[in-house]
Amino acid sequence: MDNTYTVLARKYRSQDFKSLIGQDVLVKTLTTAINTGRIAHAYIFTGIRGTGKTSTARILAKALNCTAGDGPTANPCGVCENCRAIAAGQHIDVLEIDAASHTGVDNMREILDATQYRPTNGRYKVYIIDEVHMLSASAFNALLKTLEEPPAHVIFILATTDIRKVPVTILSRCQRFDLVRVPVDTLKKHFAWIAEQEKVELSDTANELLARAADGSVRDGLSLLDQAIAQTGGHVDEAAVMDMLKRADRGVVVDFMQTLLSGNVASALAKADEIYTNGADLSMLLTDMMEWTHWATRMHPTLRISGTQNTPYTADQRERINEINKHVTLNTLSRIWQVMVAAVPEMQASTNQKQCFDMLVVRLMHIADMPSVPEILKQQKTETPTPVSTPAVDTTKVEKPTIKTATDLADALQSAREMMMYSYFTKNIEVSEIANNTICYFDRGNDNDFQQRLVLWLNNNTGAKWVLKKIETSHQNQTVNEQTKSETVADPMVADAMSLFENAEIVGISKQ
Ligand SMILES: [Zn+2]
Repeated sequence: MDNTYTVLARKYRSQDFKSLIGQDVLVKTLTTAINTGRIAHAYIFTGIRGTGKTSTARILAKALNCTAGDGPTANPCGVCENCRAIAAGQHIDVLEIDAASHTGVDNMREILDATQYRPTNGRYKVYIIDEVHMLSASAFNALLKTLEEPPAHVIFILATTDIRKVPVTILSRCQRFDLVRVPVDTLKKHFAWIAEQEKVELSDTANELLARAADGSVRDGLSLLDQAIAQTGGHVDEAAVMDMLKRADRGVVVDFMQTLLSGNVASALAKADEIYTNGADLSMLLTDMMEWTHWATRMHPTLRISGTQNTPYTADQRERINEINKHVTLNTLSRIWQVMVAAVPEMQASTNQKQCFDMLVVRLMHIADMPSVPEILKQQKTETPTPVSTPAVDTTKVEKPTIKTATDLADALQSAREMMMYSYFTKNIEVSEIANNTICYFDRGNDNDFQQRLVLWLNNNTGAKWVLKKIETSHQNQTVNEQTKSETVADPMVADAMSLFENAEIVGISKQ
């Protein structure tokens, strides 16, 4: 038996285009190009770590140099001398350069000087430059010179996880391929196949967890699988993977979200303590809470989206999410989502995750608790009696208004549904004084008609005789609208609400 353990990612590294995982578009384009003899002098592969950039580069090098046929082939044999040497990283004409350790221009010049010599054993000299974005500016310039007039026998294959750091001048001379994040289902299939080869048990739920945690990277997923196999002695189940990933069980997450949305701060914080004590990673918990919010939103009855049985939750957990959704609006879900997204970098930067998380819980509950703007409007509509439902005003029974301040007068006008006068008064009239049935005021709109109408209304409705004294120059008093606005801004609840919306401005205030 072989005593040295080869990590799964290396052992099951793709050796040909057919076995490249999850990169169908790239495979199709590249094989067609090779089969039709359209071979470029420079390629650049970009994508997150572990998606197969260097594997693809090696397969391409094999395809170009395989000696099984007369020329390059999209199906390298894998057994000829060239194929085997390239797979082992030992071919004399295929140079793998890690740009991270060859950033300088001298290194690059030295490497590029050798391009003038013809290949020794292969058809092409292939330069695979990994993490090419790490090169210095002068090294890029040296590379560019060679790319501008490459010798016919030289092929460059550049790979990078950060394409934005590669100069456009370089990019414009390369054929670019984007390696995509490998989908969860594809990863699951791959991991299940490997588990079978390795004769280890891998439960479907454990596999699902690994595939999701891999986040599109075959290599990350396989190193997690390695770790899980080592920790469980080959019986990889959900509990073991949960434990390894330091994740709280999904049922716990559903529980937690239910408590959080119920509005009981004390019990939500106690639950957070419990989850933390049980060893869950709080950043992971936040990720799980976001996952929950995403699915709860998709499952929300108002959206009526079909196909929600594809959730990562069990039937029982789905049932509970539906139950929670009966009491939670779509708006609340979308607002807590925003707060959670904003908290991700905060959690990462924080030296004390638990503190950060506790504060997040309080913030989330505060947000979940607040009615949304449409909800407030709806509430106002139901609380303000409409004219239709109001019985005809019987003046003999109506209490005569007492008017001592500008606000009193505004309220009286509003109650009497004198909306034109109410609106003009609250917007234009600066009241200086109200005393002994005399109102001193400045009228910004200078409307004499208003004065006549108001005095008539006051005389008819207050049982007293009024005098309106219009002054010619403003005493810089606030109108009723301005008073209400400054009172509203000073209200801590409103200030709180305003802070939720960027660049919020109060444009109007409706009274209940
Ligand atoms: Zn071969």
